[in-house]
Amino acid sequence: MRKKTQYFILYSIICLIASLLTAGCGKPVLHKETRMLMGTMVSVEIVGNSSEAVALITEKVWAEAARLESVFSRYRPDSEISRINREAGKHPVPVSDEMIKVLSRAEDISRITEGAFDISVGPLMEIWGFFPQRKGRVPSDEEVASSMARVGWQAIELDRPAGTIQFAKMGMEIDLGALAKGYVVDRLVELLRKEGIDSAMVNAGGDIYCLGDNPGGRNWRIGIEHPRDEGEILTVLELKNRAVATSGDYRNYFIKSRLRYSHIIDPRTGRPARSKVVEVSVMAPDCMTADALATSMFVIGASNGINLLKEIEDVDGVIVTKEEDDIKLHFSDESIEPRRRRDRGEK
Ligand code: ADP
Ligand code: MG
Repeated sequence: MRKKTQYFILYSIICLIASLLTAGCGKPVLHKETRMLMGTMVSVEIVGNSSEAVALITEKVWAEAARLESVFSRYRPDSEISRINREAGKHPVPVSDEMIKVLSRAEDISRITEGAFDISVGPLMEIWGFFPQRKGRVPSDEEVASSMARVGWQAIELDRPAGTIQFAKMGMEIDLGALAKGYVVDRLVELLRKEGIDSAMVNAGGDIYCLGDNPGGRNWRIGIEHPRDEGEILTVLELKNRAVATSGDYRNYFIKSRLRYSHIIDPRTGRPARSKVVEVSVMAPDCMTADALATSMFVIGASNGINLLKEIEDVDGVIVTKEEDDIKLHFSDESIEPRRRRDRGEK
């Protein structure tokens, strides 16, 4: 066979293989949708093979998010959490498997934070005016004391074999605001995985999961905003198959007599947390853990918080504190910090 013919056959085979590989695939498409859910903006970015397929999957995502909202929302009298709060003070209440999952994780986090994280802060959220309306007020010392009598994570009695919950104190109310959004993100990501998606980002008001690579084939990059200077980025975190939850004291608070009262309550004092922490980002394998730990950091403060993040395997974080006019960043792992310097072109 002549050399030219050999080259032609080889060239044809290569073209055939290439066209078979790309046939029907087209170019990957990025589909992004945002909706208001659970009182926050939820956005879903999916990289898929066709716009139609990805749009269909996104519809399933919204349906699942709506279902979860009807389980965890305290604003809905017919939700599972509202039923628990109405009845668990009187008798054991049967709960769903997914509620047990969330309550169990809340219990774990209460234990490791020695009670700084406490979902039984419901009565305190009410007297400080964060729930049901957002009309902040400073309650009297008597009001704080009488609400404190109805708070305590150890008084939440979860009977796993029986699948029930009961409150050991009358008038207790649980509030899953610190970790339910993270749980919702985890469930939505699980749904995406089942639908065959391997590249996506789900963001529920700063509770984020990054699935696989970004559309450019690299790690997803999440910018952490300056807590007092909107638009300025403090640091950039890189994630792949990992969650990050960011909470700031600048989102939900009120100011009275020049004091800032945040919606994160220190269950030991019955008053809004008074640490110097103004913003926290926690990275973890799942978003529920990241969310719950991020909230805890405001109560336990930067130094104890960093120690705790160092202790827990596969969890990292950045805690931002403010002293006078100084903004300081504390990292639980040095490998996060150099990346930030590289981004700014420093050595
Ligand atoms: P955000 O959505 O603003 O990031 P967080 O995840 O930080 O909110 O959670 C704040 C919410 O957690 C409050 O609105 C309240 O529902 C609940 N909460 C407040 N204090 C505590 C606490 N000490 N432990 C657990 N949950 C809390
Ligand atoms: Mg949280």
